[in-house]
Amino acid sequence: MKIKRIELYQVELPYSGGVYQLSGGRTYCSFDAGIVRIETECGIEGWGESTPFGASYIAAHARGVRAGIAEIAPHLIGRDPRHVDRINDAMDTALVAHNHAKTALDVACWDIFGKAVNMPVCALLGGSTGNRMPIISSIYAGTPEDMRHRVAEHRSMGYQGHSIKIGALDSEGGPALDAERIAAALADRLPGEYFIVDANGGLLPETALRMLRLLPQGLDFVLEAPCASWRETLSLRQRCNVPIIIDELAQQDQDIIQIIAQDVADGIGLKISKAGGLTHGRRHRDICCAAGLTLSVQDTVGSTIAFAAIAHLGSTVPQRFLRCILDCRDMVTLSTARFDAPVQDGGVMVPDAPGLGIEVDKSVLGDPVAVW
Ligand SMILES: [Mg+2]
Repeated sequence: MKIKRIELYQVELPYSGGVYQLSGGRTYCSFDAGIVRIETECGIEGWGESTPFGASYIAAHARGVRAGIAEIAPHLIGRDPRHVDRINDAMDTALVAHNHAKTALDVACWDIFGKAVNMPVCALLGGSTGNRMPIISSIYAGTPEDMRHRVAEHRSMGYQGHSIKIGALDSEGGPALDAERIAAALADRLPGEYFIVDANGGLLPETALRMLRLLPQGLDFVLEAPCASWRETLSLRQRCNVPIIIDELAQQDQDIIQIIAQDVADGIGLKISKAGGLTHGRRHRDICCAAGLTLSVQDTVGSTIAFAAIAHLGSTVPQRFLRCILDCRDMVTLSTARFDAPVQDGGVMVPDAPGLGIEVDKSVLGDPVAVW
């Protein structure tokens, strides 16, 4: 089986909640998605998506995704898409790093692989655990009462996990405001709910320690991406007793190794685009499970195509390690595909259809912006 043709589409995904606010004054209204269709000589097609969270989240941006795909795509024509590790070798030879660009191509190859053997991608990744996966909300930074209200809204929609965004600038209220946000967001916590307090690298060790000292005792949460650098995170790690989760800093394989070697954290946010696709995501999953780290399987953002990849990888994580998955379908107003994985009884099951199990709605994609 050989890759015959690669098409790249560009789709704008409006944020469903208006304006998304992150630490450091960053705001986002919509997301620029790169969607790839790979066709083989025998007529099987595969789909993959890579949607950065704007240009100011990590070192990835939508125009870089398209430029990276343009750099790599010619090197994949004629290759066997089922040999996913060799596809990744070829991508790494063509272009160093740029995980976001590689993700859409990698995921499309997994989709083809599944269709070629008539099995769902999760089966090729080791098999679904058969458990319903709890989904996590994404509560952008706002006033404490507003955040409490949005947590309640998501709770009523079936979300069992909540990602609470903090990281107030000193001019906005600093550590005191963040402490109030956390207390308000957790005020109505139900048994079994899981709270991530996510600073997206917006704190210094000093502001993080001040914030933690202002909190009421006994709040059950993990602190995600408190600081922007490894040194700051490790320093905070050694001086606080809150579980730390790494997100933005965990991108390459060696980052996962470093977390374990230096005991920097207790879990990771495994975002598929950040990892470079399902091939590396699978590796990160295995390293984390071997080391006893918990996982939230997510993506930087994305439409239904990205969510399908999340659901397949998430379904293969043993229950004691899987904290939640991100249902990014809810974060955008545009649906790019049909995917039979509704939220029911507080979670999502991955469907049994071959490949990713999606039916892409080509009418929302427009014409390809590039073809190889
Ligand atoms: Mg995060």
